[in-house]
Amino acid sequence: METNENFLLNLSILYRNIMKYFDHVLAKYDIGSGQIIFLTFINENEGCTMQDVTRVCEVDKGTTTKSINRLIDQGYVMARNDEHDRRSKRLYTTKEANVVMNAIYQYRNECRKIVGKDLDFDAFNEMMAVVTDNARNVLEESEDLSSLKIGGLLKTTLLDYPGKVACTIFTSGCSYKCPFCHNRDLVYIPENYQFLDVDEIFQFLDKRKNILDGVCISGGEPLMQEKLIPFLKEIKKRGYEIKLDVTGNYLDRLKEIVDAKLVDYIAMDVKNTKGKYVLTVGSESENFPVESIDVCISYIRTCGIPYEFRTTIVRELHTKEDLIAMAKWLKGVDAWYLQQFQDSPNCIQEGFHSYNKQEMLEILEAVKQYVPNAEVRGVKED
Ligand code: SF4
Repeated sequence: METNENFLLNLSILYRNIMKYFDHVLAKYDIGSGQIIFLTFINENEGCTMQDVTRVCEVDKGTTTKSINRLIDQGYVMARNDEHDRRSKRLYTTKEANVVMNAIYQYRNECRKIVGKDLDFDAFNEMMAVVTDNARNVLEESEDLSSLKIGGLLKTTLLDYPGKVACTIFTSGCSYKCPFCHNRDLVYIPENYQFLDVDEIFQFLDKRKNILDGVCISGGEPLMQEKLIPFLKEIKKRGYEIKLDVTGNYLDRLKEIVDAKLVDYIAMDVKNTKGKYVLTVGSESENFPVESIDVCISYIRTCGIPYEFRTTIVRELHTKEDLIAMAKWLKGVDAWYLQQFQDSPNCIQEGFHSYNKQEMLEILEAVKQYVPNAEVRGVKED
């Protein structure tokens, strides 16, 4: 018999023939080969979520949703609201799925026998698991991260990541232009700006493994970076916990990061009351979508990742009444930090002032009736 040593061709032929086999034997159940992996996963992990399926099966969200909705329509899977999080659904197989699952297991064993005839299939399976792991972990390493724009690195901080010794990596570029922002160069990137080399960042993280336990990713706006997810995977591979600073934009990318378990702490800037948001972020748009900020706040509160909200308080932009209105908006959140504005030559706009310590404490007292966990942060002695 002619043997073929072309790895890619063999892989493709193996995959297509096995799918064809399952399409044929499962036709009577109206189940396609593409659905097997989803139904089997749910059967073996009753109560899992769509996100679990997407993560473990390594498919995109759209494919998961489409396949699982079809299994629901066919009566093989049901979705129930999560008792603790009504926005999340838990997936279970139905009685009708039992017969199909028995058939899938039986045909799977049959298929193994046929394609593995005269071979030690268990040994093949073990090798395949190693090859799959390599494909998952090592092939990804070759992803080109050179387009990632890293504008700065703070090598050690005891303040940025609560309870951790961390470093902070600043990405360049931001979707806002907050006039009081003191990271002007991350927002209006100078022409000859020297970005940091991503490989040097990894070398630094490798060297500091026994000293640091967390990495903060701040900005600018980190979620703007197309290559943020592979970058976070690289940091995770090195064993670090990750804190991510967000502005409330790019919610889909944040959800992807949470689903992939690539973040351990989220910090979101809530800039001002809904009515003064547009002014505070330096936007000129009359249609600033403040509802999207609300949606992001709700998501962060319920996504299951420890979080904080924080507001930099500027005398010219925030009145005590504004802060009380914000407290009503954020009522009951786990953590809200009121940060004293610090003037700097690198601010986007000049002429802003902070409240003094006494005033900051009075504001804190006023907001605590709605957010008892509120704290002040970075307040200097007068
Ligand atoms: S303060 Fe505003 S402009 Fe500056 S980095 Fe943060 S979100 Fe962007």
